[in-house]
Amino acid sequence: MNNSMKIFKIFGIDIKLHFTWWFVFALIAWSLSSTFFPQFFPNLSNQMYWIMGITASLLLFVSVLLHELSHSLVAKAKHIKVESITLFFFGGVAGITKEDMKPSSELQMALAGPIFSLMLAGIFYLIYIFNGNIFWTAITYYLWQLNLILAIFNLIPGYPLDGGRAFRALLYMYYKDLRKATKIAVSFGRFFAGVLIFFGIFGLISGVGSGLWFIFLGGFLYFIGGVSYEQVIIKEVLGKIKVSELIDKKFVKLSSKMLFSDFVKKYENSVNDIFIVKDTDFFGIINLNEIRKMPFKMQQNINLKQISLPMHQLRTLNVDDSAYDAFKSFAEQGLDLLPVIAKGKLLGVITKKKVLHRLVWDLKFGINKKFVFKVKKNLKSMPKIKK
Ligand SMILES: [Zn+2]
Repeated sequence: MNNSMKIFKIFGIDIKLHFTWWFVFALIAWSLSSTFFPQFFPNLSNQMYWIMGITASLLLFVSVLLHELSHSLVAKAKHIKVESITLFFFGGVAGITKEDMKPSSELQMALAGPIFSLMLAGIFYLIYIFNGNIFWTAITYYLWQLNLILAIFNLIPGYPLDGGRAFRALLYMYYKDLRKATKIAVSFGRFFAGVLIFFGIFGLISGVGSGLWFIFLGGFLYFIGGVSYEQVIIKEVLGKIKVSELIDKKFVKLSSKMLFSDFVKKYENSVNDIFIVKDTDFFGIINLNEIRKMPFKMQQNINLKQISLPMHQLRTLNVDDSAYDAFKSFAEQGLDLLPVIAKGKLLGVITKKKVLHRLVWDLKFGINKKFVFKVKKNLKSMPKIKK
């Protein structure tokens, strides 16, 4: 995830803060010290409220981090790679990379987070009840409730919330069809989003509860459901295709000493549109973003080496990678073309255009074989056109 800052590493997992974290942290600390604590624990000093507010919001984020860590540690126990955890907004995201996960693993992984949050709620509740210090009583009063809310909200059986992931895993076990399972779990998520928004509007009209908060959560859940459904589809289609199927072995090799202006002149009407730059001491791909930044005059005198990304700066692809790996790599590196390497040698290149083309074709004609069959049958039964 971009726009985030690595703060430390634990169990081999990078812990990152998304830039939105700072705003939410400040907002929570501010609302706690100006409203929540003075309301429930009156007659304390302003300074005290601020220390409480900052401590409580820090501990809330520690709670969110522990929630995400419990997902990640279960994942690691299942030999699933976890690269990072990003804390953002009002939650966290664990960067867990695995194309096809066993539904039983996903079920355990999904439930680990809410279970840990429930445990934290219990621990904070006990501290709240049994400690005699007003400072910790106030903070744990807030934290046990928030951890309970975190657990309950995440257990809503709507994808992509934890409860939705667990629900999808159960559906996947039953139907053996990831798309169908995801579709149902997303629909549930949208239903709950609708319910939340309904209660939010009801709350706003009647003045009971925090209506806006409900509308906000509902809207978020609705939006994220659609996005993750698309992601699942893309992953499912492209994850099954090997890079080797889409590789282009026909490309133009250009000398790194060639002037950019000569290159444009030579190839402006050419059918070739896949280029790599290679000679004895240089190997890389042309980076058009570099050229766009340059003044026109400079473009005339520059050679290809100066506007190329050298190989060692690229994350190249392997023959065994999936088209989904390529898809992600294009997006992460902001490139339209990547070299495919096998045993240290250039095997060919893969273009974003080709990957997207394959995606569109598979979605339209490939996956649903029944659909293709139906079309063929319909074509046969169509009346012949009279000449
Ligand atoms: Zn979770």
